[in-house]
This record gives sequence, structure tokens and C-alpha cells, in this order.
Amino acid sequence: MNKRILRVDASSLKLLGCPQRFNLAIVRGLRKSLLDSRMEFGSAVHVFLKYKYDDAGDGFALEKALEYWDTRVSQGMVVNECDFRDRGHLYLTCVQYSLAYVKDKFKIAKIDGKAATEMSFAIPVAADDQTEIILCGTIDAIGTLYGQRVFMDHKSTSTRGTYIPTFFRSYELNTQMLTYNYALSRVSEMYPDTFDWASNLPCIINGIFLAKGNNKYERSGIIEFSSTVREAFERQLENTFKELLDSVRDNSWPLKGLVNDGCQSKFGMCEFSDICGRPEGVLEEDVVSLHYKTVPYDPMKHGKL
Ligand code: SF4
Repeated sequence: MNKRILRVDASSLKLLGCPQRFNLAIVRGLRKSLLDSRMEFGSAVHVFLKYKYDDAGDGFALEKALEYWDTRVSQGMVVNECDFRDRGHLYLTCVQYSLAYVKDKFKIAKIDGKAATEMSFAIPVAADDQTEIILCGTIDAIGTLYGQRVFMDHKSTSTRGTYIPTFFRSYELNTQMLTYNYALSRVSEMYPDTFDWASNLPCIINGIFLAKGNNKYERSGIIEFSSTVREAFERQLENTFKELLDSVRDNSWPLKGLVNDGCQSKFGMCEFSDICGRPEGVLEEDVVSLHYKTVPYDPMKHGKL
């Protein structure tokens, strides 16, 4: 029997705060039918950064980002007229980013002669007789900052309510950064000849603080991960994957969001509130066919930032 492959990334691990949310989003691959323009804005900026750091030229990178946005609009994405994150602001964000890092001290590494940007990984991490779990992700870039080896990640957020030093501090204990640090160490063990310097790599965050009008662009200091944190993270990761294999086998997905306030956040209701909160007598399959589409979860294809 072919094993079921379950691809997980750092974003999907966060959903395990409510196992039912993980099940609906990752195992069943349900997504809201309507495209979220705020998410797509971040993904379009990411398209720009990918081409920019690939040395494709800033003009070409900008074209690609706008093309991505236009494609989403042609697919039915609607931008709320009160939201400043529109096509014009995307243009501005990309141009301002280039200006902010015109004399960048971060130097991209070359691995096998290629610029180390958008580094994807897929590492088998756990399996039973039915399911194999693959830990996936894409690291924005690897290189050096003032000669120190680091990996870099971009984060965009609204300036409103964001105190930048606290924002950067939160990445010292961040699931995504710890996952990247762990993955790079694993890949370094697997390919010691080509990747020998990537063990326990610290990170830097390029923050893009979005605002109506001009954005702010700031970079964190170098964020190191202590051995205590890394070891605890690895232990927790191992336990999490074991529990996940049990959940898949037993098809057991508790609605924990109901007791830990996971159903709502500052960004609004959980995307599956239409399913969990459907009125008495309404069938789940009817709600699913009306509001959701099924797209097998593949972290390599989903947007980030
Ligand atoms: S609505 Fe609440 S219970 Fe349902 S999946 Fe989302 S977080 Fe979990």
C-alpha cells in the first residue's frame, strides 16, 4: 500500500493549536473560495524579492510582482476599498524596498554556482505504516552579513500597533525561524560537501512595515538560537509528529479552538468558522461546497511572508 504523504511546514504546525483546523486546512486541503488580498499582497512582494535576489534586475522583479497581482485579480480577487494594500501600494513597496537596500551589506551565498535564494527543503521526519510526514519550507536567502553567515527572512506587517524592537524580539522564539535553523542543520548533515557551513545558522529579519503612504524598512540584528532552545524545539517537534501520526491513523481532530480562543484572532474569525459554527441541521458538506475549495496542501506552492 502506498503511504499517504503529509507535507507540513512551520505555518501548518501553528495550526495544531486546534487539531481540527489543521485537519481541515492541511489534511483535507480546504481553502476559502475567495482569495484574501492581504495574503496575496504579501505573496506578490515575495515574488518581487525572489527575482530581485536572484539578480534578475529590480525592474523585471517588479514586473513579475505586478503580473502575480494582476493574475489574482483576474481570478476574482477583490481588494476592499478601505484597504491601502492595492496594486499602487505594491508598486511603491517594491520600489521603496530597492531604495532601502541599495547599499546592502548582506551578501548572498553561492551554492553550486547558484545564488542561495528561495532555498526549498523537504525532509522526511516521521512515518508509520500508513503515513509519511515531510517537513517542507522555503528559506528566502542564505548569505553573510558583515562576514557572519546567516539566513534571511522577510516579514511584512502593518505599522499600526507594531513596536519594532518587540516585533524583532519575537523571532528569537519563533516556530518558523527555529524550523529553518533545524532544517538547515539537517541538510548540512545530509550533504556535508555542498552545505557544510549551514549548521546552527542564526537569522536576520528584513521587516517591511506597511503603512498608508510610506512604508518603513528595517532589519533586525543577528538572532542566535541557544542550544537549550534548539534541543527543546527538536524534542517538541518529534513529539508533535508522533501525535500527528496518531491523529491521522485515528482520524481524531478535536475542536480545541473552542477552549483556547483559537476561533478568533486580531485578524478575524478562523477561516473554518463557517464549518464549525454552522447552524443546527445544516450539513457540513453543503457548507464546504458553498464556501470552500479543495487544494492539496503543498507548502512549496503556497504564498508566504
Ligand atoms: S473554528 Fe475554531 S474549532 Fe473550528 S477549526 Fe477553527 S479554531 Fe478550530
